[in-house]
Parts: sequence; structure tokens; C-alpha cells
Amino acid sequence: MIDRQYGEITYECDACDETLETGESEFSDALGMFRRNSWRAEKVGSEWTHLCPKCQDRK
Ligand SMILES: [Zn+2]
Repeated sequence: MIDRQYGEITYECDACDETLETGESEFSDALGMFRRNSWRAEKVGSEWTHLCPKCQDRK
């Protein structure tokens, strides 16, 4: 899931409690950080699921 704290976007892994604090307030900048850190977003139904690098291997 995506969380916003003090205007900065933080991604939280939906499979564990790993978080990625981007320090960015713009979604497009945060997404660049998200990709550089090898996180992945998957659409499940109408919801986006966010997975940290560790949880992507665990399927
Ligand atoms: Zn994870």
C-alpha cells in the first residue's frame, strides 16, 4: 500500500512489514525510487499490491 507521512510518500509491502520511504512528495518521483529499489506493483482485482524485493521471490 501507499502511505503519505508529512507529505512524503512511503510504500509498504503488502506481504511483510517492509517499508520504502521515498522522501518524495510527488508520485512520479516516488515511483522512480520505487523502481530503482526493485519493488514491484501488481494489480489484484481493482487494488494495487506492492511487493518488496524479498517477497517477489516467494511465490
Ligand atoms: Zn515484503
